[in-house]
Amino acid sequence: MATPIPKNRIARTSSAIAAATGGTLVRGDGARAHTSITTDSREVAQGGMFLALRGENFDGHAFVAAAARAGATLLIVERAARVLESAEAAAIADADVVEVDDTLVAWGALARDHLQRWRAATSGKLVAITGSAGKTTTKALLAALLGEMGETLATVGNLNNRIGVPATLFCVEPHHRFVALEVGTSVPGEIAALGAISAPDAAILTNVGLAHAEHLGGTRADVGREKGALYAALPEDGCAVVNLDDDEVLRQASRSRARTTVHFGRAEGAGYRLLQRRRPTETGARLVFTRPAGEHLELDFPLAGEAAAIDFLAALAAAEFLAGRPLEPDVLARALGKLAPVAGRAQIHLLPSGTTVIDDSYNANPSSMMAALDLASELARPAATARSGPARRRIVAVLGEMRELGSASYEAHAELGDHLARVRVDLAIGCGGAIDLTLARASQAGVVVLPGANTDEALALARAHIEVGDVVLVKGSRGVRTERVVAGLLAGG
Ligand code: ATP
Ligand code: MG
Repeated sequence: MATPIPKNRIARTSSAIAAATGGTLVRGDGARAHTSITTDSREVAQGGMFLALRGENFDGHAFVAAAARAGATLLIVERAARVLESAEAAAIADADVVEVDDTLVAWGALARDHLQRWRAATSGKLVAITGSAGKTTTKALLAALLGEMGETLATVGNLNNRIGVPATLFCVEPHHRFVALEVGTSVPGEIAALGAISAPDAAILTNVGLAHAEHLGGTRADVGREKGALYAALPEDGCAVVNLDDDEVLRQASRSRARTTVHFGRAEGAGYRLLQRRRPTETGARLVFTRPAGEHLELDFPLAGEAAAIDFLAALAAAEFLAGRPLEPDVLARALGKLAPVAGRAQIHLLPSGTTVIDDSYNANPSSMMAALDLASELARPAATARSGPARRRIVAVLGEMRELGSASYEAHAELGDHLARVRVDLAIGCGGAIDLTLARASQAGVVVLPGANTDEALALARAHIEVGDVVLVKGSRGVRTERVVAGLLAGG
């Protein structure tokens, strides 16, 4: 499910690149112009720029010759002398070379420079979204809303890190009025860096859980400090969009200098407050909510589960801040009508057999596990309108482990086991690893469990034990690849 990096059409001269990165033009004519920039030598366009990143597995400096052969006319590198004296020096003889201290930092600096020029030329606005769960969902909802107000560029897929965010920003063009940007983190300081690069006009922190805790210090407060850096990046005339239901988000909001703060959530006092979700089904619910002006609003919302409804209120808060006014109900309905389901994120499949499969296989952490189980439990509930209708449906959870939790892992997996019992999961099937602990705990609490060693075994167990009409949730961390279970279940009808 890797998302290809989107192509851009930025046009800059060698000297402008050197100036924006604080680098040195070590070879070439500063006035020479180049179009498009990439870090992938296979994506280089004729007359384009190639920036050599050092990754875990590859060093882009090994591909400068390939980039030049593909038509790159500017190479942005570290330690240029080594590149110029390398065995392949002849291959890059026609390209200009800019030397920088750190190409990852330069990649961000160039994006920041590109964005500043866009802002100066268009007065365009950018909303950045971070949080432990719900970033992509909130981004999709926000992009739909902003799209009704003007041309909007949104993060494609999940490109939310220090490579993907600049790559997204390079695609901002003069015709865009808005940017809906997803910002993620797996290393301390990443959100601060991305906040400085993107300089958001509004910042949404969806919630703070234990996602990526392993690399961020281990506790929820550590995760909060990292994510809260997005609020600290706001200007005075910006807007902090704050989850009133999340104490850690509230704490972080005090780091914002913005004069405007809007709250969303379920709690009393939230400007954008979810009051009720009527008739929740696989295809959404009717939302009843208030806006800061105080009026009640009702609308048909096309995503299942309460978490997505909360994400919508966060997106609406940011969109209305940028609009400077409440959006009309028909605008909201139009925006929601254009939403496309996002693969692997609470994507619901109704099998011909009457079984419901919730495909949440994209990723997992404690907060998104809870949200997904709540969704399963809601769909299993007998319809409120059915008087003598069917009984509650069975819930089957096919789960993979939650990775990157560090020292919080043991407790988080054990707690998940308790939660399985609380939401009355009827059968829990595991894909091996740390999820065995969850199953052991759930079993003590009375849940029937079947620990598989891997996704193949889990699929076989699921096929053997799922009954017609069950609600089946499939979810695990990215690396577990629980989408294989989903594919198997869908293929089997
Ligand atoms: P990633 O870190 O993988 O990019 P993300 O933050 O972009 O994740 P989404 O992809 O939007 O999150 O959603 C992942 C899952 O998290 C959803 O399918 C849903 O189960 C859950 N989720 C969505 N919104 C919320 C929320 N507000 N609170 C808790 N869980 C949520
Ligand atoms: Mg995401």
